Amino acid sequence: MEKKDIKSMTLEELTEELLAQGEKSFRAKQCYEWMHGKLARSFAEMTNLSKDFREKCGNTYEYTALRTAELQESRADGTKKFLFVLPDGNMVESVLMPYQYGNSVCISSQVGCRMGCRFCASTLDGLERNLRASEMLEQVYEISRQTGVRVSNVVVMGTGEPLDNYENLLRFIRLLNDEAGLRISQRNITVSTCGLVPEMYRLAEEKLQITLALSLHGATDEKRRLLMPVANQYSIEELMKACRYYFTKTGRRITFEYSLVEGINDTDEDAAALARLAGSLGCHVNLIPVNPVKERNFAQPSGSRILSFKNKLAKNKINVTIRREMGRDIDGACGQLRRRHKGDRQC
Ligand code: SAH
Repeated sequence: MEKKDIKSMTLEELTEELLAQGEKSFRAKQCYEWMHGKLARSFAEMTNLSKDFREKCGNTYEYTALRTAELQESRADGTKKFLFVLPDGNMVESVLMPYQYGNSVCISSQVGCRMGCRFCASTLDGLERNLRASEMLEQVYEISRQTGVRVSNVVVMGTGEPLDNYENLLRFIRLLNDEAGLRISQRNITVSTCGLVPEMYRLAEEKLQITLALSLHGATDEKRRLLMPVANQYSIEELMKACRYYFTKTGRRITFEYSLVEGINDTDEDAAALARLAGSLGCHVNLIPVNPVKERNFAQPSGSRILSFKNKLAKNKINVTIRREMGRDIDGACGQLRRRHKGDRQC
C-alpha cells in the first residue's frame, strides 16, 4: 500500500490521523512544527519525539524530500536556479531571486504543462503529472535550508498551470501561510494563471488575499490565439468578467502579465488595446520581454520598441513595469534547465 504523504496534511488532518493511531494530539502539533516550522529533513531530526514514535512514523508515512540535481548561480544578479529531483525521479525547477525588498522564490506546480503556450519551454513535452502540496512546499523549504535565507515572497510562476492543479495549490497556499509553518503572508504569495475561467471564479470564492496574475500576452482574441491555445477556449470578454468578479470578491487587483514578442504583439495599437483592458479594471501590467527558447523562433522587440510600448501604457495612466530579467545567463526561461537535463539523459 502506498504510504500517506504526511507533509501535505493540515494540522487538523494530522491531529485526526495521529489520534486514530492512538497518539496524543500534542504529538501532531510537535511533528507539524518540525516539518513546516523548523524544516526538519527527516523524522530522525525530531528529537523531542520518542524514538519509537519516529520509527513508527517512518514506517507509516512518506516524508517528501527533494534531491538537488543541479544548482546554477547567476553572476549578474545573484539569482539561483535549482533543479530538484522528486521522489519518483521526475524533475522540477525552482528559482531564488534576491530583491531589495526581500527574497522571492519561484516554484513549479506541475511536472510539465498541458497549456501549450507557444513561447514557453515548459509545455513542449506536455503534462507529466501534478505536484502534491508537499512537493511544492519542499521547493521553498529546501531553498531556505540550503541558502539559509529567509524567504519572504513566493510566486507560483514556474513550470505548470497552477489552476490546473487546483486542490493541491490551495492546500499548498494554506500550509505556506499557516501560523505553525513559515507564515508567509498571503499578500506575499502570487499565483499566475494562463486564464482558466471556471477556476478563477472558484478561487474568488476562497477569498484569499493572494495576488492573482493573469498571463494575457494579447489584447485581442486574435492576437492571444497566436500565442496561447487556451484563448480558443475562453474569450477576453469572459476573462475580463472573471477578473472583475475576482476583484469584487477579494478586493485584490489583478496583475496582467504580457510577454512582448517582436512582430506579434508589440505595436502601438497593441499597447492601446492593452491599456483599455487594464484601465477598465485598474490592473497593474508587467511586461516581460520574451525569453527566447531554442525550440521556438520568437524574438524580443528592440529596447526602444519595449520602451515605447511601456510609455504608451504609462501615458494612459496604467501602472506598468518591465520585468527585470533575472538570470539570463543561467537557462533563464521556464523549463529550459529541466529540458536540458532530459535531453542529456536521452543522449
Ligand atoms: N501557467 C502559468 C504560470 C506559468 S509561467 C501562467 O500561464 O501564467 C509564468 C509566466 O511566464 C507566464 O506569464 C508565462 O506566459 C510566462 N512565460 C513563459 N515562458 C516565457 C518565455 N519564454 N518568455 C517570456 N515569458 C514567458
